[in-house]
Amino acid sequence: MALVPDGSYRTACRACAHGSCGVTVEVRGGRLASIRGDPSDPVSRGYVCAKAIASRELLESPLRIRSPMIRDGDGWREASWDEALDLIARRLSEIRDGYGPGAIAVATGSPRYDIYEWLYTGFAGALGTPSILAVSNFCFVPRAAMGELLVGGHPVVDYDGDPRLVMVWGANPIESNPDEYKYPQLDAALRRGAELVVVDPRRTALAARADIWLRVRPAADLPLALGMAKVIVEEGLYDRDFVENHSYRFGEFRDRLSMISHAWVEEVSRVGRREYARAARDYATAKPAAIHWGVGIDQGANSAYTAYALLDLMALTGNLDAPGGNAIFDQPPVVPTDGMFPGLPEEARARTPGKEYRLAWERVRPPHHLTWDAILTGKPYPVRAMIVLAANLLVTRPNSLKIWRALRSLDFLVVADMFMTPTARLAHVVLPAASWLEREEIADRGKHHGHAFARRRLFRVGGARSDAEILLDLGRRMGLPGFRWGSIREFLDEALRPSGLTWEEFSSLGHLRGPVRYLKYRTSGFPTPSGKYEFVSGKLEEWGYPGFPDFRDPVATDDRYPLILITGARRIMYMASEGRQLASLRRLHPHPEVEIHPETAARLGISEGDWVAIETGNGRIYQRARLNPWLDPQVVSAEYGWWYPEMDDDRSWTVSNVNVLTGDGPPLDPLMGGALLRGLACRVERAEGPLHDIDEPPES
Ligand code: SF4
Repeated sequence: MALVPDGSYRTACRACAHGSCGVTVEVRGGRLASIRGDPSDPVSRGYVCAKAIASRELLESPLRIRSPMIRDGDGWREASWDEALDLIARRLSEIRDGYGPGAIAVATGSPRYDIYEWLYTGFAGALGTPSILAVSNFCFVPRAAMGELLVGGHPVVDYDGDPRLVMVWGANPIESNPDEYKYPQLDAALRRGAELVVVDPRRTALAARADIWLRVRPAADLPLALGMAKVIVEEGLYDRDFVENHSYRFGEFRDRLSMISHAWVEEVSRVGRREYARAARDYATAKPAAIHWGVGIDQGANSAYTAYALLDLMALTGNLDAPGGNAIFDQPPVVPTDGMFPGLPEEARARTPGKEYRLAWERVRPPHHLTWDAILTGKPYPVRAMIVLAANLLVTRPNSLKIWRALRSLDFLVVADMFMTPTARLAHVVLPAASWLEREEIADRGKHHGHAFARRRLFRVGGARSDAEILLDLGRRMGLPGFRWGSIREFLDEALRPSGLTWEEFSSLGHLRGPVRYLKYRTSGFPTPSGKYEFVSGKLEEWGYPGFPDFRDPVATDDRYPLILITGARRIMYMASEGRQLASLRRLHPHPEVEIHPETAARLGISEGDWVAIETGNGRIYQRARLNPWLDPQVVSAEYGWWYPEMDDDRSWTVSNVNVLTGDGPPLDPLMGGALLRGLACRVERAEGPLHDIDEPPES
């Protein structure tokens, strides 16, 4: 199975979607013997998590899909790659010729690699379809897109610049490591004495370590951020040089803040003025200070404007693109993520639905409900086929029941995955995908910390192929423009050309970084109409949106659904819906848990460990109660990503999957079209009857 002789190999992990932790893989007797974190890695600094340690199981699991499979009646038959890809090429070409290119949708999730580049810019672009289902409308891109719009990039914490205060907002880096950050960087900053502020409805392990924990009500981050900006402006704590010389419309911003009352901020956010004022003062006066932001910001009806308000805080305090603040790093010397393919032709781009969600539309990211509706109704154009890479759509996207109906109604569905997920079970063709140990690629290319790492191919599992290999072969069979490379090595050599390295040389070197430059706005300005940081955005106004962060409270509890639900809690052993079939991870955390305040639980007759039913207007699921005295008594927090690989029927994804509870209708984020995933109205009750068959997890 090993493709290399026994020995130690330095590579970049990606057992989760956010990876590239530097690791050393020991190969002994042709098998993976161990994985250790590499302390010399400039980002992960020796960190390694349970998901990485479980990678031997990922390689050797008997449940791995090892060859292409074609639906045959109610079952499957194994097929060669040639047969499977010829079938896919023929069916996709027929559907494109019959209905137009938009009838083929593409979807991905936690990228096993820069699949975005291959799937969206490459494959979808060459097909001419704007029917793209990315996670981006409610994950990462609200922040990244607002950053691009207002400051020309995605500002991330410059941990190497030694921030004196870090404000972690909507992130839980001990349990989940988002794209640009790893917990050891934050941990090192705290050990050097940095102050820690955590903004989170839950008292996470990190919040417990914080100097200030602001227990914000779910979906009320924006009022809290505005309240902090108001304190900074009212008390004159802002950076005068930045405001006077590099910003625009500050006076209007100040006037808008003066129209907000602290009483309103306190009422909506449920954070006391004393607490958030203290956090604001500390953030404004610690030099430098940085905001470590996460997906919690992206999953609501105000996600883009919340990102705007946090950018305002960075700008107000002079921490934008400053050493030790939130820096906008240059990319490493490789061809940019979107630079290898011609991309979507302009006329196809103009057909992208959802222009009313303008920020998403500008990035060709139609809100998901538009594609599901197009599949189910044929409007605005028919969507009849879908190719899905690295996405268990039934479990990880809002409104699972609607997605199930939509996927079942497709004429042709292709899924590439490592395991037979509930989504793969609906496919006409399933392709075996390679894990991180079975691929070679330029890892983290396109991330915003400016680093790129070499991920080396060390193993082979059956006939599994990387997503890039699958798309390259398929694109060539379909004669798609831009799919010109004879192999992935050729692609990698070309992508590395600006560095002067070949893939062989880069994989020996292991790492590249772009130049580190700060305060670039002083010479090149901002990408706004005024060329300055706009506290009231001219571009948003030009598009017909409020130019100042605009809050619409999406929380609508009532007598039937009196509690406020968070649907996004993560656990370190799992990435999205992955990992439930790996016994070592499942043993660590066998069941999903919903956190409830003890008083609320007592009122409802619920004890620790009980199975409870969680219900919203959309559906009902079951998770196990975990009592948490630190929660707001009205708030419950359910885990995300749950299905049961040991069940082979529809219950596998309906029993505990939070996205049975979520919808994809209003209130949506007005700029991104993302659904409300944090702040849903719900009810909770003790489950009737035992759930015997999920009480004990399987052994493998
Ligand atoms: S966080 Fe992700 S990349 Fe890092 S060690 Fe864990 S699984 Fe690997």
